[in-house]
Amino acid sequence: MRRFDAIIIGAGQAGPSLAGKLTAAGLSVACMERKLFGGSRVNTGCIPTKTLVGSANVVYLAPAIAAKSCASRHRSPRRAEGCASPPSGL
Ligand SMILES: Cc1cc2nc3c(=O)[nH]c(=O)nc-3n(C[C@H](O)[C@H](O)[C@H](O)COP(=O)(O)OP(=O)(O)OC[C@H]3O[C@@H](n4cnc5c(N)ncnc54)[C@H](O)[C@@H]3O)c2cc1C
Repeated sequence: MRRFDAIIIGAGQAGPSLAGKLTAAGLSVACMERKLFGGSRVNTGCIPTKTLVGSANVVYLAPAIAAKSCASRHRSPRRAEGCASPPSGL
């Protein structure tokens, strides 16, 4: 049976970071993960949450940006009302 100086339970944000510090100090380390490598931050927490919020923000702002872009492109509110071309930069 192989032996290790340390066993880390969980490969989330903390586990791999701790493993790096222990191996840098010359220790042998085993890391166990029961579900998803990366833990909650990359798989279910911060990053997916911020992606959802960011995407929702773009959808919310897009019509106003498109209208403003059309109005400035045509300089006439009447023509801008029928503008279907997408705004540049989106
Ligand atoms: C919705 C949400 C949004 C968040 N937003 C932010 C943010 O914007 N900014 C921020 O700084 N933080 C945010 N966080 C917090 C951040 O995700 C956590 O602080 C960070 O993930 C904690 O890291 P950790 O390694 O301690 O735990 P985790 O990332 O939870 O990792 C623990 C790991 O251990 C594993 N494990 C548990 N028990 C066992 C076992 N018995 N055997 C084997 N493996 C096991 C789990 O499967 C998991 O992979 C958010 C969290 C959530 C849920």
